[in-house]
Amino acid sequence: MAGNEKEVLVVMNAHPDDICCVGGIAAKYSAEGHKVYSLSVTLGETIRKPGPEQEKVKQLRKAEGIEIARILGAEFIHLDVPSNKIIPTMEMKMKIVNAIRKIGGNIVMLFTTPWDVHADHRNLSCTMRDVTYYVGHPGIKGEHEACRLAGAYMYEIETHHNELHEPDLVIDITDHAEKKFESFLGGARAVVYGPDSGKAWMEQEKAWVRFWGMRYGVKYAEPLYAARGSMDTMIPVRKIKLKDKLPVI
Ligand SMILES: [Zn+2]
Repeated sequence: MAGNEKEVLVVMNAHPDDICCVGGIAAKYSAEGHKVYSLSVTLGETIRKPGPEQEKVKQLRKAEGIEIARILGAEFIHLDVPSNKIIPTMEMKMKIVNAIRKIGGNIVMLFTTPWDVHADHRNLSCTMRDVTYYVGHPGIKGEHEACRLAGAYMYEIETHHNELHEPDLVIDITDHAEKKFESFLGGARAVVYGPDSGKAWMEQEKAWVRFWGMRYGVKYAEPLYAARGSMDTMIPVRKIKLKDKLPVI
């Protein structure tokens, strides 16, 4: 029965390195025997000038995505969408629906927040709001049968720039934090951004997950936010807060 299968974790990225921000959850799911995918919509080529430099960096970023996924125990997939052109059209939504349905199984999705300062992260979030509805809807025709959506939650990327939001869920990643930190420091990423960039970002993320860990009494924790959009996801969103009695401390 589909509901008893292990969940398949699909981390939706605008760019190949976005998954690092939920690297602890990805590594934790992988260690627990779940299949984990890092699905990047673009290859983030706009970090270079248009022309041959962008074509070259796409290959480097693909290698970066593969390496990061390997460190976290995930499989890297990418869609051929040009960077900075994630526009929430029906075509874009169905491209992502088809990719997720192709993976199939008991899907738990993580995707970006709508308040992110980066246009690709923000526009992916807007696109995903409908994708969460369509992937499991048998009435929406795609290249593959509808799959079971077992959960959808959002994660932040540009945390040092974004407005601070209170998370709806906080996941203890203490036992898997080293894998997360390692994912920022891969050799393929250093080729793209230079040797010091990964370390600087890793230090920011270390402070971020330590902060949320501190707030909730563990060493490191990754915050998640409820994904609104699908009628199916609204039920668990409300269950998170609905209690039958006052919690006793
Ligand atoms: Zn990104």
